[in-house]
Amino acid sequence: MNSTTLRRAAWPISFLLIALACWFAADAVADRMVQQELDTALRTQRQMSASVVDNMAEVIASDLAMSRAIPATMAELDVIQHALTQSQDYAANAGGTEPARRAQLLGQPSLAAVSAFLHDAQGYSGLDMVWVVNANGLCVASSNATTKRSFVGIDMRSRAYLTNALLGAFTEVYGVGRTSGEPGIFIAAPVYDDGLLVGAVVAKVGIARLRHWVARAGTFVTDGNGVVIMAHDASLEGHALPGSNVMSMSPEERHNIYRRDVFPDIRIRPAAQLHRDAPWVPDALAAQLFDTSVRRRPALYEARSGLNSGLGAHLVDPVVAWPELLRTHKRDRLLVFVTLAGASALACVIAMSYLRERRHHRATRHLAEQLQSANTLLSAEARHDALTGALSRRYFLDLLRHEIEDARLAGEPLCMAIADLDHFKQINDRFGHAAGDRALEHFVETCRTELRDGDAIGRLGGEEFGILLPATGLAAGFETVERLRQRLQAMPSASLPATVRLSVSIGITELGPDEPSERLMSRADHALYTAKSRGRDRCEAVHPGDTAPPARTASTTR
Ligand code: GH3
Ligand code: MG
Ligand code: MG
Repeated sequence: MNSTTLRRAAWPISFLLIALACWFAADAVADRMVQQELDTALRTQRQMSASVVDNMAEVIASDLAMSRAIPATMAELDVIQHALTQSQDYAANAGGTEPARRAQLLGQPSLAAVSAFLHDAQGYSGLDMVWVVNANGLCVASSNATTKRSFVGIDMRSRAYLTNALLGAFTEVYGVGRTSGEPGIFIAAPVYDDGLLVGAVVAKVGIARLRHWVARAGTFVTDGNGVVIMAHDASLEGHALPGSNVMSMSPEERHNIYRRDVFPDIRIRPAAQLHRDAPWVPDALAAQLFDTSVRRRPALYEARSGLNSGLGAHLVDPVVAWPELLRTHKRDRLLVFVTLAGASALACVIAMSYLRERRHHRATRHLAEQLQSANTLLSAEARHDALTGALSRRYFLDLLRHEIEDARLAGEPLCMAIADLDHFKQINDRFGHAAGDRALEHFVETCRTELRDGDAIGRLGGEEFGILLPATGLAAGFETVERLRQRLQAMPSASLPATVRLSVSIGITELGPDEPSERLMSRADHALYTAKSRGRDRCEAVHPGDTAPPARTASTTR
């Protein structure tokens, strides 16, 4: 796999990883945001739930206090106490049937009067029923004495509320009426006459009268055994709290009080489901929430028990904000994800532009360097002749003008010579153009060997060369070029065939006062012309005072 393929594959993988990282970060941020909202919502709702349950407990306590007052007051009445004392001999085990006992008891004027009194009292006390039981557990007078369901004459010993009352204890229990089948709270107050326990006054408050206790949705009331005796959602009545007393009672006891045997669990459990629906709920908050059979959302659960009666007030309050919180979490996560992904994309674009810019910058710099070295090379080439390495014609002419100025300023002499290889065309023709090139190179090398460092040699064209000798007078200059000519003749090139006879003709002159470079060159050219015409392979000098013939002046403008 080459680097381009790798780079191509790396982009989508990087985008995928960035998107994943954004998603997880968005999830964490949304979790934090919604956790705070849940915390606030729960705190507010818990305060409300607590106040609802407290209020409920107060109403129950005050209602029961009023209901208790009636049998307690009646137990203090002489008429009740005397009536019970007089009926001491009546007992269920004394023989006779219930209707016979009822007829007998109703026949007693004092007991009939008590029944009438109880009937009136029940009418304005808000009780469902009031009755009086003697020490033998037999009902001797009741508010419903004259009705078809009269209690008078009934043996009530097995009633739970009497068990303790006939032992002298004030009793208050929930139960289901045997005759009516109606549930209610039975309040039994023991009656004493002259310090002797003579019976009890019993009052029943029907549950139907107390329905306002559970007016609010989610509320219910349990009795001392943990059985739901009243609930806003009536279907819960008869259920029991998990692990409550009723579960350890005997079937007879249960039947005796509740007229039923089965008590389904009301199912208020810590909200275990939460982690599937909302894994963002922290453990501390999850511990406050309950899963109930009441609704599909988690709920707060508040309870007050005791209440001076064994009753308990309960509220299962589904978290109102729950569906909204679930929606908020999803929305926040999406919003944060879009924001993060957008910011990351922007960062990527900026990074990519930066990298591209840097690459571009580097390429430009590289190009500039290449251009600079090419320019350097070009300018070097422009200054030197590519074949021989001598100065180019243009550069040589520039140098000539500068040297003339310098010589004038310094007041020194300056010599200029023009050298032309003899019969060069023949060398080309006989030995080939490449041999001609070697001969030109050889001539320039010979010049370099023979001349000083400060002297200059330039190729004026073809096989014609200009030679500048600064700070040199005509006599010394002539000697120099003569030496050069002789050396060329004496030292043939090793790279040329031995039969090549290389010779040069050189014309030399010296700079005259106030003379332009063209005139100097023209005179050197004239000297060369003279050397050629006098037989070649020789040097000729022309003094500045001599006038150059016009025929050879063209070489200065070539
Ligand atoms: P003269 O003695 O009168 O100077 O005769 P010549 O043959 O040297 O002069 P001419 O002007 O007739 O010929 C010059 C020749 O130099 C002609 C040209 O082909 C050759 N030449 C010019 N430049 C180059 C070069 O760079 N390389 C080679 N090999 N030959 C060149
Ligand atoms: Mg020539
Ligand atoms: Mg020539």
